Amino acid sequence: MKLNEATAHEILELIRQEKATPQQAFDAVLDQVQAKDDHIRAYVRLFLNENRWDPATARVPIPIGIKDNICIKGEPTTCCSRILGGFKPPYDATVIEKLKKTGAMLVGSTNMDEFAFGSSTENSCYGPTRNPWDPGRVPGGSSGGSAAAVASDQAIWALGSDTGGSIRQPAAFCGVVGLKPTYGRVSRYGLVAFASSLDQIGPIAKDVQDAAMLLGIIAGYDERDSTSADVLVPDYTKALIKDVKGLKIGIPKEYFVAGIDPDVKEAIMAAIEVLRGKGAIFEDVSLPHTEYAIATYYIVATAEASSNLARYDGVQYGLRRQPPQVRKTPLIDMYEETRDLGFGNEAKRRIMLGTYSLSSGYYDDYYLKGLKVRTLIKQDFDRVFEKFDAIITPTAPTTAFKMGEKIADPLSMYLSDVYTISANLSGIPAISIPCGFSKEHLPIGLQILAKPFGEQMLFRIAYTYEQSTPWHKKRPPL
Ligand code: GLN
Repeated sequence: MKLNEATAHEILELIRQEKATPQQAFDAVLDQVQAKDDHIRAYVRLFLNENRWDPATARVPIPIGIKDNICIKGEPTTCCSRILGGFKPPYDATVIEKLKKTGAMLVGSTNMDEFAFGSSTENSCYGPTRNPWDPGRVPGGSSGGSAAAVASDQAIWALGSDTGGSIRQPAAFCGVVGLKPTYGRVSRYGLVAFASSLDQIGPIAKDVQDAAMLLGIIAGYDERDSTSADVLVPDYTKALIKDVKGLKIGIPKEYFVAGIDPDVKEAIMAAIEVLRGKGAIFEDVSLPHTEYAIATYYIVATAEASSNLARYDGVQYGLRRQPPQVRKTPLIDMYEETRDLGFGNEAKRRIMLGTYSLSSGYYDDYYLKGLKVRTLIKQDFDRVFEKFDAIITPTAPTTAFKMGEKIADPLSMYLSDVYTISANLSGIPAISIPCGFSKEHLPIGLQILAKPFGEQMLFRIAYTYEQSTPWHKKRPPL
C-alpha cells in the first residue's frame, strides 16, 4: 500500500514503528496530487513551503487539505470567488493554529462553491471538481474539493465547513466520512462567514477513527469566537467502541417519502438491519416540521449571507474595479462595478434573496417567520432526543448527480439539501459515513444525528457500523 492510500491512524502507526517517515507521507500525497489532480481538480492551490509543516513540531504529521474559506496567514484565501482575488489573510484561523501546533501537514486549499453557496462545487470561480468515482458527476458541495481530495488519496484528512450540509453531502457523494460538529464545538475564528448562526468547521476523513482524531485536534473553546462553547473536549477516540447494544435510534418517517432514490433507501434500510443485528433498538419517530426546513434554511441562510457579504465592496478585501466612465459618483461606481464583476450568479442570487427577506415590510413575513419556524424544527429534535440516543437518515436523497444537471435550476439544487439542513438549523451534530453503492456504483451516505455535544454517540454508532461492513475500504477506480 502506498502511504497516501493509508488512513491517518495507519500512518501514525507506521511512523511509530519506524517503517515510514513524515516526509515520506507528505511526498506520497504530493505525488498523487501531481499525478491525479489535473483531472480531479480537488485543489485550487498548493501551499508555500514555509506554511506546510515544521518537522520540529510534527507530532501528528498527517497531510491535510484545507477548504478555501479557512484563513491561513500569508496564503491566498478566496472562497473560490473572484471578489477575494489577491486577498491574503494576516492571521491563521484558530483551527489552522491548532493544526500547526500538532504539526499536521498543510497541503493546499481545496475547491468549493463560491462562498460555500451550493451543493455541487460547480459554483467555483476556478471551475468544478470531478467526482473521483465518476468524472462526469459532481463531488457534492460546497466542500467538494475537500471530499474529492480525501477520496482520491490526495489528502489523508481535509477540513470542510458545513452551513447546510456542505461537509456531509460531499462526503456521501465521494464515499468518505464527514462530520458537522455541534454549533459552537469548533471555533469559527478565521472561517469566512456565510451564515454565522449555522456555520461549523468539521473533519472529512477516510474512516471514523480518523474523523474522531481530527475533531479532537480542532475542537474547543476559543475566546476569539463568542459563539464557541466552553465545553470540555473529550478524547473522541475513546468513543470508538464496537457496541450499540440497547441504544435507541429513531427513524424519521418524514425522511422516507417521495423523492428518495430507491437505491439510497435500500442501502439505509440494510444499514439499519446491520445495527439492529448488533443490538440497537429502532423505532419510527416524527419530525413534523421537516417539510418547512428547506424554506426556513434558505430564508435564514440567505439573510445572514447578504449581510456577511456586504463587507466585500472593493475597499478592504481583494478585488477593486472602477468603471471606465463615471456613472453615479466614483465611490458608488467602484462599489457597484466591484460587486458586479466579483460575485458569481449564485452569490448575487443569495444577496438579493437575503436582502429582500430582511427589508422593511418583508422582515416580519420572511426573516422573523423563518426564525420562529427554526425554533419549531429544533423542538422536533429536542422531543425525539428525550427518548432516543440518535436518529438515522440518508445523507442525501440521491447519489452524486451529473455535472450540469441541476446548475440551471437553483431550486432543484436547494431541494437536494433536504436531509442535511435541519441539523444546522437545530445546532446538533451529524455524521455521514459510507453505507454502500448504487447500481451505477456511486457511493451512498448514511447520516446519524445526536443531541448537542453528542459527538461521542455519533462516533460509537458510526464505528460499530463501519467495523461490521466493508464500505470504508473501497477506493474509486482512478
Ligand atoms: N447546499 C447548501 C447551500 O447551498 C449548504 C451549503 C453549505 O453547507 N455551505 O446553502
